[in-house]
Amino acid sequence: MLSEFSLIDQFFKKCTSKNDETLLGIGDDCALLSIPKGYELAITTDTMVEGVHFFTDVNPAQLGHKLLAVNLSDLAAMGAKPLAVTLALTLPRVDETWLSEFSAGFSKLARRYSVDLIGGDTTKGALTLTVQAMGLVPSGQALKRFTAQVGDLIYMTGMLGDAGLGLKIKQGYECNAEKAAERFHEPMPRVETGLALRGCASACIDISDGLVSDLGHILRQSGVGACLDFDNLPLSDDVRTYIENTDDEFMPLIAGDDYELCFTVPPQFVHRVPENCTAIGIIEKQTGLRLKKTGHIETFTAKGYEHFS
Ligand code: ADP
Ligand code: MG
Repeated sequence: MLSEFSLIDQFFKKCTSKNDETLLGIGDDCALLSIPKGYELAITTDTMVEGVHFFTDVNPAQLGHKLLAVNLSDLAAMGAKPLAVTLALTLPRVDETWLSEFSAGFSKLARRYSVDLIGGDTTKGALTLTVQAMGLVPSGQALKRFTAQVGDLIYMTGMLGDAGLGLKIKQGYECNAEKAAERFHEPMPRVETGLALRGCASACIDISDGLVSDLGHILRQSGVGACLDFDNLPLSDDVRTYIENTDDEFMPLIAGDDYELCFTVPPQFVHRVPENCTAIGIIEKQTGLRLKKTGHIETFTAKGYEHFS
């Protein structure tokens, strides 16, 4: 069996490239980072457990990509620039083919965003993967959840529900939607958009659990409500076809895994919103989430939604 050191040497050396802030990487009891003057360190962690967060037959390269992507997505949602990550691997056995593919998917995304792998832990047990990601944001400029204001416009990046459709396909829904399947298996974190939203968005979150659920965090923490414009939601042709075939029109609103950003923008900053974003609603004083659909307003409840007016 490979030792912990040769395992890291063999599979993860390629993503230990050096940022100036990385004073010491893998190999000691701790890594050392310096935080430049005028910056704050944004820190997040996400765990993925086999059978809970991914299927047993997952492609290891896609799993390596997604594990890092979901963490970089949290940094993006704070407007932080990715700097470094640690990786805790719990593996049932050392499978060199599996590790080689997993590390290839992980390293490719790490290099794309110049993220240094600076440490981690390797243990034996049920397949469980944890990344802790650290990023830099100019002091006071992080995008938070509790700062949305009445009158702000609600935007999101990309398309809604593609990953949800990818999951439906995985679960047996028959259609030929490669893009959607790719968004489910290999989400791209919206790092550049997150950085562009500094000084523009009043609040921001990434869509991991579904738009209704994640926007709900912004609303509750900001003490406001919202009305979403159902007819303006950015839906791909594949998702539209899925809705026509199944009548499951709320799938895009409640499905998770899109890893798009949902953010609010005060009216005076709307001109600064990046191009790949769509306005989907407005923040209101009345708490709760309403849905404007072909001129009617409906309100969401725990059971789904009910007619409002
Ligand atoms: P310690 O016993 O002091 O925690 P370890 O023997 O667990 O140290 O790890 C040795 C070095 O290898 C440390 O620098 C640690 O951060 C790094 N490391 C261990 N596992 C991983 C991993 N899966 N990915 C990256 N670095 C790792
Ligand atoms: Mg250790």
